[in-house]
Amino acid sequence: MKKNLKILVLLTIIISCKSEKQKRSNIEISYNDCVQSIDTIKMTDGFDFPVGKPDAKKYYNAQKFGVNEHLGDDWNGVGGGNTDLGDPIYSIGKGYVTHAKNIYGGWGNVIRIVHYIDNDNQVESVYAHCNEIFVKKGEYVTKGQKIGTIGNNDGKYLAHLHFEIRNEVGMPIGGGYSSITKGYLDPTNFIRNNRTKKQSTIE
Ligand SMILES: [Zn+2]
Repeated sequence: MKKNLKILVLLTIIISCKSEKQKRSNIEISYNDCVQSIDTIKMTDGFDFPVGKPDAKKYYNAQKFGVNEHLGDDWNGVGGGNTDLGDPIYSIGKGYVTHAKNIYGGWGNVIRIVHYIDNDNQVESVYAHCNEIFVKKGEYVTKGQKIGTIGNNDGKYLAHLHFEIRNEVGMPIGGGYSSITKGYLDPTNFIRNNRTKKQSTIE
């Protein structure tokens, strides 16, 4: 009888250890799944243009990157003038809004979004002179999400979207024009070369 009791206690210990181990490994699996799904949500799955989705349909780039030392693209509606005032601006990809407010001067309403390409690479998109802003700092956005509308910075310009892509995230806003292009990418080239996740690269 005493021997049987010993065996029973031993068996109980073994069984409870096993189930504890199983429980722990189940937790680990679901934790990993969770982390992976959060990462999948955060990581980009390709990029599109910020106007006229897809492919900037019915818009033209009035001042390309590099022309007059321009650090971005100027997107205008094909109708010209202020015909594009109030047209939608879309996030070029999944990302995290780091700035969404009026900074006045030549910039007006500015939205800045950081896009996570993989664990090591990020780019930032900058949307300037917006008429309206529909997102807040700290918000996650999806590709093609309407984040604002095209503006004219309180009548300073004819309506257009000044749009930049930077591969150095969080630099000062800058001046929009410079002969020094370190940290800036040609936005149109970048989007064309990174339409899908598979091709994504910040080169
Ligand atoms: Zn511009």
